[in-house]
Parts: sequence; C-alpha cells; structure tokens
Amino acid sequence: MSKKAETAEAVSPSKMKAAPGSAVSVANADLARAAEPAPVENFFEVHLTQLARAMEHAPMQKHVRLILSEPKNEIIVNFPVKMDDGNFKLFTGYRIQHNNIMGPYKGGLRYHHEVTLDEVKALAALMTYKCALLEVPFGGAKGGIRLHTREHSTSELERITRRFTHDLGNNIGPEYDIPAPDMGTNSQMMVWMMDTYMNMHNLSDKNAQRRIVTGKSLTSGGSRGREKATGQGVVYCIQEWADERGFRLDGCSYTVQGFGNVGSHTAQILSRLGAVLVAVQDHTGSLYNPEGIYPRKLIDYVQTHGGIAGYAGAQAISDEEFWAADCDICIPAALELQITAEIARNLKCRMIAEAANGPTTLEAEAVLRERNIEVLPDIMANAGGVVVSYFEWIQNKRSESWQLQEVDSRLHFMMKRAYHEMRAFARERGVDNRTAALAVALERINTVYIERGVFP
Ligand code: NAD
Repeated sequence: MSKKAETAEAVSPSKMKAAPGSAVSVANADLARAAEPAPVENFFEVHLTQLARAMEHAPMQKHVRLILSEPKNEIIVNFPVKMDDGNFKLFTGYRIQHNNIMGPYKGGLRYHHEVTLDEVKALAALMTYKCALLEVPFGGAKGGIRLHTREHSTSELERITRRFTHDLGNNIGPEYDIPAPDMGTNSQMMVWMMDTYMNMHNLSDKNAQRRIVTGKSLTSGGSRGREKATGQGVVYCIQEWADERGFRLDGCSYTVQGFGNVGSHTAQILSRLGAVLVAVQDHTGSLYNPEGIYPRKLIDYVQTHGGIAGYAGAQAISDEEFWAADCDICIPAALELQITAEIARNLKCRMIAEAANGPTTLEAEAVLRERNIEVLPDIMANAGGVVVSYFEWIQNKRSESWQLQEVDSRLHFMMKRAYHEMRAFARERGVDNRTAALAVALERINTVYIERGVFP
C-alpha cells in the first residue's frame, strides 16, 4: 500500500482494465481477477497478533476467543454497473460483519482500488473493539468496494453506490447493520445509500429506514458535528494526553499524513488550539513549512486541485523527509501499515496519534516501544466518528436534531471516559496503550458472552 502504488495507477481507462483487482469490463473479468495486491504485513494478521497480546491481559473464556477470531458473516457481491460510455464494469463489494453481541453491526464503507477481503476483515474487527471501548451499543462491521474513485464520474459513483446497496439487500438494516463513510466515501454517498434503501421498502415504512446509514448530510438526516467528528475526537484524545503530562499544545508542532476528512479536520481543530502544522502528506506528495501551514487555506486548495501538491504556502519535500520531520506529534490519517520499522526509526516525534485505522506495522511498534515514542491507538484516537454516528442514529430514531454544542460535549465526555479507562489499565498492568484499549474492550465483550451464553 504505498503512495507510489496510488499514483502509478492514475492511468488511462484502457490500462486500468488490466490492473490487478481493479474494476474490469465484463468481457475481461476472468482475466483480471487473478491477483490481489500484497501488502508488507497482512493487516488482518497484524490485528490478530495485537489481539492475542491483549488477551494475555484480559481474562477470556476460550470459546469467546474463538468466536472473535473470525467475523460472523463475510458478504461478497460482484455486481455490474453501466459506465457513462455505455460499457459495463463488474465491481467487487464487501460487507464484513465481525460481531454483534453488543448491538447492531456498525462500520464504514471504503472505496479504494486496493481494498481486499483481509483489509475489510481487520477493519470490521477494529469496529467491534472500538464500540466496546467507547461504550457505544453497536457491534463491528466494515465494507468496501475495490475501485478508484478519481476514475469515475459522479453519476457512475451514484450508480455503483445504489447498485451495491440494492445487492446488499437485507444484509444491512437500521437495527441490524448500519454503514457510514470511510476512506473514499462521503455524506453524498451515504445519502444515495439511504435513498436506495428507503425506496426498497413499503411506502408506510419508508421513513423508519432513514437511520440505515450515518454520516449523511445535515439536510438529509445527518447530525451536526458528524463531518468533523473523527478529527474532533482525535483532538480530544490528544488534549487528554497533553493534560496528563503537563504538555502545552499551544506552540507545539505536528505532522499529518492524509488530508481528507479525518486529517484536515484534525489539523484545523488542532491548529486552532495553537499547535503548528509543519508537514503534511497525501497521495499527491509531501509539504514542509517550519513556520506553519494554515489548514484552512490548504483545505481550500485541495478542494480545487484534488491534492496538496503545488500548494504555495510550503515547500515540496520527499516522502522520507516527511516522516523524518522534526515535530512533537505525528498524526497518520490515511491508510493502514504506513509506519514501517524503517520509518519508525527515523521519526522525530514524541507521540503518534493514530487517526487512521491500523497505520503502524508490528515491526514498527517494536521500534517505537524501544524508542519510547508513545502511541494513542486507533480504536481510541479515531473513535469520534462512530460515537457521533451513534448520536445521528439516535436522533433519527427519535426524530430529533441536536445542537452542535450538545454533540460536542457528549462526544468529549465519552472520549475522555474511554481515554482514562485505557490509561488506568495501562498503568495498572504495565502494558502499552493499544494492549490496554483492546483489553478493556475484550473484558466487556467477554462479560456479555458469559451473561448471555451461546445459543442454543
Ligand atoms: P479520505 O478519503 O477523506 O482521505 C484520505 C486521505 O489519505 C486523502 O488525503 C488521500 O490523499 C490520502 N492518501 C491516500 N493514499 C495515500 C498514500 N498512499 N499516502 C499518503 N496519503 C494518502 O479518508 P478519511 O475518511 O479521512 O479516512 C482516513 C483514515 O481514517 C482511514 O484509515 C479511515 O479508516 C480512518 N477513519 C475514518 C473515519 C471517518 O469518519 N471518515 C472514522 C474513523 C477512522
């Protein structure tokens, strides 16, 4: 999953047909299905290793370990969609439902050309533990479609989204499995999903289906504060970390990898607190300015140019220089497995806040431990998105519309509570934050399995 892989694929549509795992024309489908891209470490196996470490510190029933080691359901649909030029393409869509002992399955939907089954399985499992840690009464799921969003028009993306929703059918539902945005998807796509799903139901029952997805636009039933929620949660988490150590955020420096929904909102909120964004990277390149990069101006630039490359308020640097930039806090907010052992050895920060899911490899984690670089793990740091998704779901259910202040203060309370539960566990057991966060979640899930038993 390298940046080079992303940029190298920005080629003509005819070349794209031959790329492994991309959407393909129906005629070429059998030829193009041969291989899936091979990441450095397998994300699902990385997750299982981290889970096994946490299980050493959380007393677990043997059968619960077994249940959690694989998702409950793995739904894979191959579906054709008509392109603007009249040709059909076949897409592969996934919906992985990891666990629903704590409540309906919940998790984002990713559109990316390197989406794989193992990636979505890992992401779905992380949702189970994220919800349990935050005491959000949902289980864990994740979905994805392997496609290159930048190579499709808006109307193609709409037809792809609607057809995928239709093909998922009753495998999703407002009390069963509730998708949300993730990488490559946004509020518009959630509204298309909602509208398609509503139209698949009886007239009299239609409006009760609105909460089939969260992360919708405000006008179509979304929540105030949902768009910035993940970034807001990352910052609440960083604030708790800073308070605990007497560290001043005002004047500190930070870097961000990924300047999409999560990265850009995190940067905007953190810079408002006086922190200085010194380096940023996205799929188009890396930028550096020790005097500070204005997130708002960069957001406007990205909206018109599609990426950060060419932004005049900073100098272009190499990807290696980005990771080696001097800073207090490093915030990965793009893909998984980005921080390799080599990068970990060169990092100059004192803390990593994992806004992305699974950005750190196992080898890198060992290096970070040796170098005393603290990590705020993904299931804690980026949980703000699912928390406010839960608020959106409640608001839809009750036909309410909460004010932003209420959303933010409830989010703050839940992030703070989970953060201190994680830290207390880490201190008491002498383990790292990731192990502690997973162990707190596992203890809760295990308790519910003991209380409920396993049917029949
Ligand atoms: P997004 O699609 O809005 O933005 C992704 C960003 O990553 C873009 O700036 C893109 O240019 C950059 N990027 C892509 N490939 C890259 C590469 N190879 N090198 C460097 N940058 C690259 O996605 P998002 O919603 O901001 O999600 C980012 C991460 O946050 C993902 O790991 C996602 O799972 C996680 N997350 C998202 C949410 C949410 O609410 N959207 C919630 C929790 C976690």
